[in-house]
Amino acid sequence: MTYVVPAPAQTSVEVAGTGERFPVHRIYCVGRNYAAHAREMGMDPEREPPFFFSKPADSVVPNGAPVPYPPRTGNLHHEIELVVAIGTGGRDIPLASALSHVFGYAVGNDLTRRDLQFAAREKGQPWDVAKGFDRSAPVTAIRRAAEVGHPERGRIWIEVNGEIRQQADLSEMIWSVPEVVAELSTLFDLAPGDLIFTGTPAGVGPVQRGDSLVGGIDGLETLRTTIV
Ligand code: MN
Repeated sequence: MTYVVPAPAQTSVEVAGTGERFPVHRIYCVGRNYAAHAREMGMDPEREPPFFFSKPADSVVPNGAPVPYPPRTGNLHHEIELVVAIGTGGRDIPLASALSHVFGYAVGNDLTRRDLQFAAREKGQPWDVAKGFDRSAPVTAIRRAAEVGHPERGRIWIEVNGEIRQQADLSEMIWSVPEVVAELSTLFDLAPGDLIFTGTPAGVGPVQRGDSLVGGIDGLETLRTTIV
């Protein structure tokens, strides 16, 4: 096989403690999956259920790697999230067997150009430029479900320069992990290598060049990012 331009490299994420890697196929994200965050975004979670959007697979940033402050924004926000790594694909996956499709879990930051998101929202335009920019998806190594189980509760948090910004419990998610997997699989064929960012709790806010971000979820790796 000869390609006419250089073929893109396969994006992958480390699997904790194994020396092996998880190849990234697609990145799906859940919007407004915590009621308190939906409210801080000016929305009513009783009337508007969560929804999906996506980021490019190659927007992944390895844990610890610096993130350059992105262009065309003056309001870059952190969104700490539980990330689901899909091990077995499928479509129309039943709720009862949804967790059997999960390979493992990581901690991610759904970095967002909030000013561009609000501008798009006002005009009814797509969110891609706000959410799917280069290096917008820092993510930790994945811990295997075989090792850590399937977290249903546990503290999720992020600090900026040592100050707590977001703190909640996974049990506050409106759509649970099985519900996210089942629902998403009615819209897309899920495939091995898919990552799903499951939404962020309240407390999102801006970061600046030089800021040090540290975030985590009970039982998973700690995500460390510096904005440069
Ligand atoms: Mn998010």
